[in-house]
Amino acid sequence: MNQPPLPGPAALDGSSVDALLQDTTPWLSCEECFERMDAYVEAAVHRSPQQDEAMATHLRACAACHEEAQSLVDLLRGL
Ligand SMILES: [Zn+2]
Repeated sequence: MNQPPLPGPAALDGSSVDALLQDTTPWLSCEECFERMDAYVEAAVHRSPQQDEAMATHLRACAACHEEAQSLVDLLRGL
């Protein structure tokens, strides 16, 4: 069976591969953080118990996402 050629991997250098393979649990990427932010902020605004420790960890460490979350909170509270 011939496999179709996969684009990409040959172009990755060592450090890119290392970055992809790193176990970042419970750390989220900013992309994952953004995907979960709506639900997280909803819970925060409604004072529901937060189950998402990974989100909390990311928001403590990432100023950009924290700012985004804060503005969402402000927005929801303003409604
Ligand atoms: Zn982030």
